[in-house]
Parts: sequence; structure tokens; C-alpha cells
Amino acid sequence: MTRTLPACPDCASTFTYEMDALLVCPECGHEWTPQAEARVRDAVGNILSDGDTVTVIKDLKVRGTSSVVKVGTKVRGIRLVEGDHDIDCKVPGIGQMGLKSQFVKKVSG
Ligand SMILES: [Zn+2]
Repeated sequence: MTRTLPACPDCASTFTYEMDALLVCPECGHEWTPQAEARVRDAVGNILSDGDTVTVIKDLKVRGTSSVVKVGTKVRGIRLVEGDHDIDCKVPGIGQMGLKSQFVKKVSG
């Protein structure tokens, strides 16, 4: 087997197995959908989480306006959402908007 299943989010057991669309932990009985484990990654592959700070890596036109989110803009407190624009955030000087994770880079530390 070359594919590694994710460890159980409850007890961290690595003996998880697949049952239909579910992943099952034989040790604590936890069942979950692997989709819920899908991670949003930034332009360079860092895993993003709610509350992270990111910088924009290219100029992004704000749909329906003449505003542009400039490359290097720092955005704090992102929130991950479903959809094409998978980051919901408040951009300084622009306001609440959606960003695509492939156009941002996580700020470490
Ligand atoms: Zn478990």
C-alpha cells in the first residue's frame, strides 16, 4: 500500500480504514468523512486555518469595483469557506471579500 490514510482526529490512531465514503477508526470507533479533512493550501502548499494571517501574492482586481488588492497586502484573521473563493476575510482599505487560496501566502509566526 502506498496511500496513507489520515490519522484519527479523535485519538490519533493510525489504524484508520475506509468504509464506503467514510474513514473509520477501529480504536475509538470514530467515523468521519475524508472531505472534512480536506485542507486548504496557499500558493506554496502551506496548510491554512481559520485565523491565519496571509499576504496577497499578486494584484487582485475587486470584482465590480475599480479597487485592486495590491500584492503584499497583509490580511489578518482569515476564515476558510466553501467555494471558488475559499477564503473569507476583511482586506484593509477594501472591506469584506473572498480570496482564492492560490493567490495568498501564509505569514509564519
Ligand atoms: Zn480514534
